[in-house]
Amino acid sequence: MSNTFLPFSKPTIDEATIASVGDVLRSGWITSGPKVAEFEKKLSEYFGGRPVRTFNSGTCTMEIALRIAGIGPGDEVITTPISWVATANVILEVGATPVFADIDPVTRNIDLDKLEAAITKRTKAIIPVYLAGKPVDMDRLYAIAARHKLRVIEDAAQAIGSTWKGKVIGSFGDFVSFSFQANKNITTSEGGCLVLNNEEEAKLAEKYRLQGVTRSGWDGIEVDVLGGKYNMTDIAAAIGLGQFAKLHDITAQRRKLAKHYFATLGKDFEQQTGAQLPPEDFTNTNWHLFQVVLPDRITRPEFMEKMKAHNIGVGFHYAPIHLFKLYRARGFKEGMFPVAERVGKQIVSLPMFYAMNEADVERTCAAMCEVLVVSSKLR
Ligand SMILES: *Cc1c(COP(=O)(O)O)cnc(C)c1O
Repeated sequence: MSNTFLPFSKPTIDEATIASVGDVLRSGWITSGPKVAEFEKKLSEYFGGRPVRTFNSGTCTMEIALRIAGIGPGDEVITTPISWVATANVILEVGATPVFADIDPVTRNIDLDKLEAAITKRTKAIIPVYLAGKPVDMDRLYAIAARHKLRVIEDAAQAIGSTWKGKVIGSFGDFVSFSFQANKNITTSEGGCLVLNNEEEAKLAEKYRLQGVTRSGWDGIEVDVLGGKYNMTDIAAAIGLGQFAKLHDITAQRRKLAKHYFATLGKDFEQQTGAQLPPEDFTNTNWHLFQVVLPDRITRPEFMEKMKAHNIGVGFHYAPIHLFKLYRARGFKEGMFPVAERVGKQIVSLPMFYAMNEADVERTCAAMCEVLVVSSKLR
């Protein structure tokens, strides 16, 4: 067994990218400038020419999309309980009411039947999340949105490089939000971008991004909406440009690693261990995460600790949002979303990142099999 610690995620920044960051730092202009404009242009081309604006996080992109859609107090927004808490926090941030719908046990994404059943007269928007980069059924999602006249803010934070029927996620649909946080498939250290429908929305996004300010001429300045301070720096954009150039390779490598996980574990793995693997999808998902739901006979902390003893890092994504104190205080409690609660208790993320190799996958599988088989014999 190898002695080096294998983390569950690690960014790869190449030397050319590091040099380009140095160039920005020496240029005399280190905040938003030409690199941001260049990054937005590249992203827009990739998303089929749709308008794109960058921000300093994937969280504020969603908050700004909600603001552009005019969503606020009295409005309900439906999302999944299995996501990073940011997904629901942004709904509270704009003063709207979060509503959850349980997840599908196979995809671990929001169950679209339950989503539709949760729609009321007050529902104004839905925020689907593509956990691990796996999209929901996009045709059904947009059919539901059209039927009930709802805005969609896609939390595609994990889904850059993912596709639906040959089209990249972000190249179609309503608002589509991506994160470039350090662990995401491509990173700007921290950052995000929002794909919008038209130039009018893009102009509003620019205002919300920087204090609500519009400028005209040499000294014309006006403020007519309440904006925040969410702009991306050229330092971050330079990292993003270097990463974006590798997107195709990164996605291909992750798909290769995911395939190797399935091949190494074999088709009897689930039956032998009681663990549940992710759906085998080598066309749509970018394999942001490789997530396994553990059998009930081993707790997640026990599994993580034992994997650590094998020098393997394990992450977990995510604890059910509705069971956090902030959400319990709003009336959510145990038993409301049983699938999310079971998955949220037992889900783990195995190592998955660009610089990993097939031997790392094999090492992880061997350790996991040992940990799960030993734990089954003990009981
Ligand atoms: C990373 C992530 C976010 C938040 O993005 P930040 O850039 O960290 O603000 C939101 N939702 C999901 C599903 C994420 O994975």
